[in-house]
Amino acid sequence: MATNRTFTMIKPDAVQENHIGGILGMMEAGGFRVVELQKLTLTAERAGEFYAVHKERPFYQDLVKYMSSGPIVAAVLEKDNAVADFRTLIGATNPAQAAEGTIRKKYAKSIEANAVHGSDSDENAQIEADFFFGK
Ligand code: GDP
Repeated sequence: MATNRTFTMIKPDAVQENHIGGILGMMEAGGFRVVELQKLTLTAERAGEFYAVHKERPFYQDLVKYMSSGPIVAAVLEKDNAVADFRTLIGATNPAQAAEGTIRKKYAKSIEANAVHGSDSDENAQIEADFFFGK
């Protein structure tokens, strides 16, 4: 995957609250083009695999349970400087610290149920996109 792509998920809380359209709209308004898109429900095993990097963190079990609690929307997005620009668009992990105008400021409910995922590097964007859309 080129460095102009990133990977995102709309998380279970936001899907449950009917915010798929609102969130995709903010992504498109932010200049991102949807390259791949899929709604699915992760098993606990798959969610655990996706977040394996956080295995030692105290919130890992809760995170796995939450991410497998209902449908998500996985997507690959395209834009120049995609990874960094998308992290700016989603805002801080903790919505209490997210800037005005960000997706998490508008839609996140808590530091865990924070509405969206965004890759933190080009390398992880490629790995995460392959996890869902790998050929
Ligand atoms: P991100 O890159 O902004 O998504 O943040 P991290 O990679 O640090 O964490 C991954 C995900 O774990 C976050 O998006 C949250 O859903 C969850 N998370 C992060 N920190 C905490 C925490 O302190 N408590 C809980 N319950 N969940 C957390």
